[in-house]
Amino acid sequence: MSAARKTPSTNPPARKAKAQSQRSQVPAPAPDRQIDQEPVANESAPSSTEVIVAAVTRAIVEHRLLPGAKLGEQKLGDRFGVSRTIVRQAMFRLSELKLIKLEPARGAFVAAPSIQEAREVFAVRKMVESQMLRSLIPQIKQADIRVLKAHIKAERDAVTRIDVASRTKLLFDFHVRLAELLGNQVLVSLMQELVSRCSLITLMYQSSDDAETSNAEHVDILKAIEARDVESAVALMDQHLSSVEQQLTERPRAPGLNLDDAFAN
Ligand SMILES: [Zn+2]
Repeated sequence: MSAARKTPSTNPPARKAKAQSQRSQVPAPAPDRQIDQEPVANESAPSSTEVIVAAVTRAIVEHRLLPGAKLGEQKLGDRFGVSRTIVRQAMFRLSELKLIKLEPARGAFVAAPSIQEAREVFAVRKMVESQMLRSLIPQIKQADIRVLKAHIKAERDAVTRIDVASRTKLLFDFHVRLAELLGNQVLVSLMQELVSRCSLITLMYQSSDDAETSNAEHVDILKAIEARDVESAVALMDQHLSSVEQQLTERPRAPGLNLDDAFAN
């Protein structure tokens, strides 16, 4: 792993541009969806898609949409004044983010994160991430440390302005960034998959205080990395993952609302 090391994330603008272009692609329709009985409107407005993605994400963050809530295409189309094609594109994007689940012949539903799944994901993360630090620390460069410091600063800014969607993504991305610094694409994909499986549960149940704690724990982990102290870094990472797991799996659940209430304001 270490021989193949590159430092792709020393160039954040390129990454950002790539993410942007992936996001703006019109998603291919899922073959198993049968809710599509209407003629498809010849319309392409990726910005409308993004508006719906952002609105649904916000509704989930703010607990206005809860796990299992149905997202009716027609209702959403009416609400946002767009065609069902646009709604479908948004649903596809949200399903890629694992925030909703598309069920053949039934439609789109807010995903129901299972506590058991979250626990399993954290167990795998502990195995993977401790080994990741053991590989990374002996070979980390000063430029890599600067990338991680800048990342932690961005996290803190999002935490301060209580931007829940951004802070959730940035707090997860810190871990993906460590994988990127090792230059192993398989590891990067694995980490992306692992963190995205927890995104819904985190969006819903991580409090502002929890987010601040996570940011502070990242600072401590980075200090140990910078000091090339492998054992401390691994111990701090293990504690950090345990505390995040505990925050997310022990949060009480709130009662549900329907789609009309979720977007009423
Ligand atoms: Zn973290």
